[in-house]
Amino acid sequence: MSLSDHNIQFLRGVGPRYANLLSAEAEVSTYEDLLQLYPYKYVDRSHIYAVRDLRTDMPYVQLCGRFVSFNLVSSGYKQRMVGLFTDGTGTVEIVWFKGIKYIRDTVNTTDEYMLFGKPNAYGGRINIAHPELEKTNSAQLVAGSIQAFYNTSEVMKKAGLNSRTISKIIHSLFAEIGPNGIVETLPAYFIQRYNLMYRTDALRTIHFPSDTPTLQRARFRLKFEELFYVQLNILRNKNINHTKSAGVVFSNVGPLLNRFYSNYLPFEPTNAQKRVVHEIRDDMRTGRQMNRLVQGDVGSGKTLVALMAMLIACDNGFQACLMAPTEILATQHFEGLKAMLKDLPVRVELLIGSTKKRLREGILAGLADGSVNILIGTHALIEDTVVFARLGLAVIDEQHRFGVEQRARLWRKAAVPPHILVMTATPIPRTLAMTIYGDLDVSVIDELPPGRKPVTTLHYFHNYRNSLNRFIREQLQLGRQAYIVYPLIEESERLDFKNLTEGFEYMKDAFPEYKVCMVHGRMKPDEKDAAMRDFVSGQTNIMVATTVIEVGVNVPNASVMVIESAERFGLSQLHQLRGRVGRGAEQSYCILMTDVKLADESRKRMQIMTETNDGFEIAEADLRLRGPGSIDGTQQSGLPFSLHIADLAKDAQIVQYTREIAQELLKADSLLQAPENGIFVRRLAELSKKKADWSMIS
Ligand code: ADP
Ligand code: MG
Repeated sequence: MSLSDHNIQFLRGVGPRYANLLSAEAEVSTYEDLLQLYPYKYVDRSHIYAVRDLRTDMPYVQLCGRFVSFNLVSSGYKQRMVGLFTDGTGTVEIVWFKGIKYIRDTVNTTDEYMLFGKPNAYGGRINIAHPELEKTNSAQLVAGSIQAFYNTSEVMKKAGLNSRTISKIIHSLFAEIGPNGIVETLPAYFIQRYNLMYRTDALRTIHFPSDTPTLQRARFRLKFEELFYVQLNILRNKNINHTKSAGVVFSNVGPLLNRFYSNYLPFEPTNAQKRVVHEIRDDMRTGRQMNRLVQGDVGSGKTLVALMAMLIACDNGFQACLMAPTEILATQHFEGLKAMLKDLPVRVELLIGSTKKRLREGILAGLADGSVNILIGTHALIEDTVVFARLGLAVIDEQHRFGVEQRARLWRKAAVPPHILVMTATPIPRTLAMTIYGDLDVSVIDELPPGRKPVTTLHYFHNYRNSLNRFIREQLQLGRQAYIVYPLIEESERLDFKNLTEGFEYMKDAFPEYKVCMVHGRMKPDEKDAAMRDFVSGQTNIMVATTVIEVGVNVPNASVMVIESAERFGLSQLHQLRGRVGRGAEQSYCILMTDVKLADESRKRMQIMTETNDGFEIAEADLRLRGPGSIDGTQQSGLPFSLHIADLAKDAQIVQYTREIAQELLKADSLLQAPENGIFVRRLAELSKKKADWSMIS
């Protein structure tokens, strides 16, 4: 029987009540779960401080001494117990607000205690509230000097299931299973080659560390194991898919791409663009279906990369399509690409919801007989009525707006599934992307075209409204345009909507000499498009909008982006919004408006925005602040297994390391069929039984 078949209920010190609590509150029900209930922090208890040396800026301290007296102090309904504690060097007040009776019954003035707690400032003196106490003559439970701390919920604490109790329970688990109770999950040669601790030692150490270096090694071993198996699973599945999914072979780089490249390029591609086009080309000639994600910050020039990939498809006698999330964006792509292609013999068409019937019929006929080479559109182009003669490449712009299902429908548009290129500007750290977009290869455009002026970002409080308006007016007088964006989230939609319309009225009053328009998601598509078009063409000067403008819109003349109630937006959304300006040659500005009163986390977000324009840096910060589960688009793909100790943000290096190791292993045995690799297959099967739960990832 494996440890995951043993129920903790029968473990010494547990019983049905704790078992239920552990299961409900910490998702721990088996021995295996309990072993993986890792401490969230450690405290070094080897050092004993002198009372004389206490300062309030110290974290936890350990004292050794005796109580001199106890006093019940009451002021009104607030009662507290104050004990005077001394170690011969000085005296410090120890305070209890709760559990006073228990303290009175169990703590005395005769025994010597080890006291452990945090010094606080109180009324000009130092005190310590609710410390941990242990009689020095009682046997030390925890061997070694570093003590592990476990997260416990309020409910657990109330029932006496605190960090200390958990430590005791884990102690009895180790006693119960004996020295050989923990099965190794990595082969011996792995452990040697990568200089890892054995699993059994690592698990003992993580709960009962003897010293810091050993603890570090234990943590590394356990993180390594978790991340290695995640990568192994992803990469093996990819290999399995590869054996199934043959792809069309694009062997030529032909006249279209060559002519475009030597004669029509509107600008010199950046090195990053060139590299990514190469990666795509290499993919498309392998005979396997390409599934590639191109990540590039807003404005990094993904469209050009998509166009070159589509030209390769055309050069090989195939059709290509480009799907964008909104009609405005699809239309912009259509016009932009047509302009770039000039007189090249490529027929490009646009298919969106509002395409008129006659036009639509012509396009559909052209798709079916192969005369349309490139189709641009919204999700209108995945409808069943849209039939391609030879679809070879499908590009999806702004992937996070589309679900996996929509991607799958594109697959089915051709007998041999087309190559798939998805493009996103939602920056996700590379290590996270390679993990959650497991089935996709990832390319990164990590360079902006030269000459871009970084957007200047400022954080303003609401009471600066007048100077803000002066500033907007200056920009408008220079002939520029401005966006004013309001949050609109479903939960408080009515209130948000009121803010938006009030903001619109306010701007009209404040700028009577300019044209102000309003755009939001509740408008009819054609009204919305008309308003957008007027702004794009410069007929309106100020656009008051919700986040409908977040994705892809390109108005190079807009130089001001004001984000109202900026604290209500996440970092990646703020960054996306900011990406709407700074697209022309002029200096642009993003102004984050908030209340003076701000939560710490919001303040931090505003600060990050004002400090950096780098989408990846922002994504890393976002990941640290919020955890990976909350990043756009991650929920739908998810991780194969839960992570208990590794952190995709903080352990990016180990992600990369284990990925390379997994790659090397699979190079020799791509599906893990060799008998000596059975250990990996068994472990993967065991892990797959438990599906990942994002909420558990810190
Ligand atoms: P995004 O990656 O956000 O989709 P776009 O493809 O819309 O970016 O490109 C943003 C702007 O940069 C466009 O106006 C485009 O013409 C321009 N651009 C793209 N690549 C280059 C380059 N290599 N040099 C100069 N300008 C470029
Ligand atoms: Mg784009």
